[in-house]
Amino acid sequence: MSELMPVLFIGHGSPMNAIEDNEFSRAWTAAAAELPRPRAVLCVSAHWETRGVMVTAMEKPRTIHDFYGFPEELFAVQYKAPGSPQIVEAVRAAAPFADVSPDAQWGLDHGAWSVLSRMYPRADVPVVQLSLDRARPMEFHYELGRELGKLREEGILILGSGNIVHNLALADFSAAAYDWAQSFDEKVGAWILAGDHQPIIRWREQGQEAQLAVNSAEHYKPLLYVLGLQRKNEPVSFFAESLVAGSLSMRSVRIG
Ligand code: ZN
Repeated sequence: MSELMPVLFIGHGSPMNAIEDNEFSRAWTAAAAELPRPRAVLCVSAHWETRGVMVTAMEKPRTIHDFYGFPEELFAVQYKAPGSPQIVEAVRAAAPFADVSPDAQWGLDHGAWSVLSRMYPRADVPVVQLSLDRARPMEFHYELGRELGKLREEGILILGSGNIVHNLALADFSAAAYDWAQSFDEKVGAWILAGDHQPIIRWREQGQEAQLAVNSAEHYKPLLYVLGLQRKNEPVSFFAESLVAGSLSMRSVRIG
C-alpha cells in the first residue's frame, strides 16, 4: 500500500455518543467513510493509563464498559473487532526507545469502542490499543507519535481519542461553554492550523485557562500523538468543533 493513511484525533465526549444519533456520531461515521479502508486501527485512548507503554496483544479484545450511571443499552454494547498480533509487532519495532510491552489484560475501552462503533460498525477492522505512560512528559507522547509514522505507510489508521478541553468536575450539561474552555479550545485550534505545536505541547505555560481546560491531561495526551504524526506541509482540518457540557471540547482533527 503506497497511499499514506491520514491520522485522526476524535473528541469523544460522553460514551452515549456510541448509541445516540447526533452531530458527533454522524461526523465520525462520515470521517471514516472519507478515509481509505485501513488494514487495522491503532488507537491511543485517554482511558488507558499505565506504568510503561503497553499495546493490547490479545486476538479477541473484550469490550470494557469503563463508566457508571449510564443506561443498560450502553452496557449491552459489544464491539467485537479482532486484535492484531502483527500490528503489535509493528508498533514495538517502530518505537524501540519506548520499550512497548504486549498486554493481555486490557481490551477496548470506551475511548476506543464508542468512536469505532460509529466509524466501523461491523467491527471488521482489527484494533490495537496503545496505552499512555502516565510517568512520561508531554514531549514523550509527541515523539512517540512521530516514531509511529511508518505505520501510516502500511495502511494503519492511527486514532487519538480524548478531548482537547476536558474538565469533568466542572461539566454541566445545561451550561454554555465556559469562557476559559472556549478560549483555550480556540487557541489550540489556531495552533493546530498554523502547525505550531510547541505551545500545545507546553500547555502548562499557557496560564490558568490551560490548567482548567487540560486538567489531569489524560484526555489531551492523545492529541500529541496525532500532531507528532503530521508530516511537513501535510494538510490539517477539523470535522467537529463544538463545546458541550460547558467544559468538554469535541474538536476533532484530520491530518492528511
Ligand atoms: Zn473520555
